[in-house]
Amino acid sequence: MGSESVKVVVRCRPLNDREKALNSKMVLSMDLDRCQCFIEKPGAVDEPPKQFTFDGTYYIDQTTEQLYNEIAYPLVEGVTEGYNGTIFAYGQTGSGKSFTMQGVLDPAVQRGVIPRAFEHIFESIQCAENTKFLVRASYLEIYNEEVRDLLGSDTKQRLELKEHPERGVYVRDLSMHSVHSVGECERIMEQGWKNRAVGYTLMNKDSSRSHSIFTIHLEICNTDPAGQDHLRAGKLNLVDLAGSERQSKTGATGERLREATKINLSLSALGNIISALVDGRSKYIPYRDSKLTRLLQDSLGGNTRTLMIACLSPADNNYEESLSTLRYANRAKSIQNRPRINEDPKDALLREYQEEIKKLRALVSGQLGTADLSSLLSGQSSAVPSTLQSSPTDTKKEKIKEEYEEKLAKLQAEYNAEQESKAKLQEDIVALRRSYESTLSDLEKSHASRGSCVPKDVAFSCTTQVAEKEDPPNTDPMLLCTAGATSPTKPAVQKDPDRDGLIQSADINTAGALDQKHALERLQQLEQQVIGGEQARNKELQQRHRQRRNAADQRKAQLVHALSEDTEESDNVLLDVYNSIQEEVHVKSQMLVKVQGKLKAARLEIRDLQAEFEVERNDYLATIRRLEREGQLLNSLLERMVPLVRRDCNYSNLDRLKKEAVWDEDSATWKLPDVMVQKTTLPSAIAPKSSTRKDSVFDVAEQFMVEEDRYKEMLDRSDSENIASSYFKSKRATQLLGADATKGHAHLGVSGSNISPPVISDPVLPRPFRLESLDVPVSNGKVKRKKSKSHIPS
Ligand code: ADP
Ligand code: MG
Repeated sequence: MGSESVKVVVRCRPLNDREKALNSKMVLSMDLDRCQCFIEKPGAVDEPPKQFTFDGTYYIDQTTEQLYNEIAYPLVEGVTEGYNGTIFAYGQTGSGKSFTMQGVLDPAVQRGVIPRAFEHIFESIQCAENTKFLVRASYLEIYNEEVRDLLGSDTKQRLELKEHPERGVYVRDLSMHSVHSVGECERIMEQGWKNRAVGYTLMNKDSSRSHSIFTIHLEICNTDPAGQDHLRAGKLNLVDLAGSERQSKTGATGERLREATKINLSLSALGNIISALVDGRSKYIPYRDSKLTRLLQDSLGGNTRTLMIACLSPADNNYEESLSTLRYANRAKSIQNRPRINEDPKDALLREYQEEIKKLRALVSGQLGTADLSSLLSGQSSAVPSTLQSSPTDTKKEKIKEEYEEKLAKLQAEYNAEQESKAKLQEDIVALRRSYESTLSDLEKSHASRGSCVPKDVAFSCTTQVAEKEDPPNTDPMLLCTAGATSPTKPAVQKDPDRDGLIQSADINTAGALDQKHALERLQQLEQQVIGGEQARNKELQQRHRQRRNAADQRKAQLVHALSEDTEESDNVLLDVYNSIQEEVHVKSQMLVKVQGKLKAARLEIRDLQAEFEVERNDYLATIRRLEREGQLLNSLLERMVPLVRRDCNYSNLDRLKKEAVWDEDSATWKLPDVMVQKTTLPSAIAPKSSTRKDSVFDVAEQFMVEEDRYKEMLDRSDSENIASSYFKSKRATQLLGADATKGHAHLGVSGSNISPPVISDPVLPRPFRLESLDVPVSNGKVKRKKSKSHIPS
């Protein structure tokens, strides 16, 4: 398994209006051929610019199209072959992350990486030969360290991260949406983008504070010449990160500061991971430090090809942020990933579909004949089997169906011809299908109301209904089918073949011709879910596809050449043969100047880095101090409040609670023990007969045990603790001494020297509550308590 480094490119946006109005200077420049980026410190004229080299540099005039074709194309192409890929944009707010990832419609060359990836993936799918694909999409965001589904029915619900031994880290209950075209992908992305925006206006927050991840999941089934199927799975993560600016610079306070800290928590965790991976010495990589790094775990040092696009502002007032972004990006270059093709995925839905298709094909062709079936499936426009044409209603239905299929075929022909308006046509197909279905169901209803018995296909109707319930935003039954199937509660038709009347031949025989028709429909449905190879014979498209692939390779070769020239030049200075000593001195002194320049730059870099670390350290220290103060406040509050909690409740013992509390990684919360009140009644120390003595000292003692627990501690500390030790003394001794007890209890003193030895004192005498010297006659416990309060020193 080979390893490859994370690819890093930088992109610099033009000055914006505000910066122009402020007369900001450009501090960034680039050498596009050598992929070098230079940044000058504002006001430091004598310092040479800092220089960084990347896998690609894109300046103010470069387009997203160029960026995509040169660097993103090979990565996305890999996903269609079964690799995992991740593209993420990094940079301060307003540096062009969303511009690069989402892009703009006009001009077309600035369409974003995400829509380009959609187009690319579907082009590859259509050009593939002997290969079928299942494409699904999901869209989530991480806001304040909480994961939310942007395409789910409840976008505010907080989702949990889980770890699977084979699949790795995943989000539980994240909705998956089956997609069949670029248009569908775009619609889904828009829907998620809107949900994001709506959420922010409602909460008075903005999206630059959240990280979003759009993922395209591919399942690929390739049939080899021997007819053997090979399954693979690829995944493309498209990540738009929150702004990377430092919290102290934004002047955030209160809630905003808390948010900023959390964004930075994710981004610093990302930075720490990059450092740990690059360092090579650290065995422990702190992926668990944030949600973002856990989700991107495989993209950083794992089984994924990763591309980082670092976005920069060229203005001098953003110098520090830009420099910090460049350093971040520079470190990320050294991360080594180990991408591999994901073969034979265990939980592939495509496998289930293929098997069901095979069964249905076998079943239907067994009854209709293979020729009929293929003609039915191929154009979906041929005549319906004669077995179905039995009643006038059926004839009408068939007529509608014929009409529908005719239109569908026409639309599909257009669809193939016109690649540009794919999305629009797909919409038409869906609309047409829907109108066909509603007309058909109307007809069926009216037929049923006239008393005729139309056998219902339970399995089919249940599939669409269940799915619809699960995923209301989608109205396309085809889409719903899969969206439901992948969610945790799959419709029975997917999970339990026994309930699928379509597969059971016995059911078919009894249900009659209409069931057969539904089997056919289901088969068509499934075949539509699985896409691939539609344009396998479209030579022009194939050619274009190949050209784009080659363009990326050529670009890579160019770059390698340019960089190797650079190194050769410096190596040869010492080896070259010179005509004269003057020439040699000239060349070498030139070289010396260059090296001296480099040395100076390196020294400045060390100084700047130290200064930057200092700033960062102060930032962290400020955060630590703030958190410490918060912690102290909470602790002080707790200390005051704990004594107010009843003693027999487990929440009165803070130390024990702290020991019992467990940190839950998945939900990122503390799991605290349940609140419990424990009543421990001590065994009665005296024979039951004593209970008959109403005002006996034992009753008084018991009353005290319950009511005056808080004195216990003080008493334990006092010398009279031997009362407790003699509590369980033998009954015999108690009985013998019982007579004295009633007399003597009021005369016990606090001081150890004054009390009688424990053996002869009454063991159940409650507590000494006053000094013997005061000699106040005591009639009941209440008086005793009052006295004791005033006399026991605290
Ligand atoms: P971010 O997502 O990083 O916060 P945006 O992508 O929203 O920033 O970009 C901020 C502004 O800059 C937008 O108005 C965008 O149109 C503009 N912009 C960003 N990059 C470019 C570019 N390469 N060319 C032209 N305009 C750009
Ligand atoms: Mg943005």
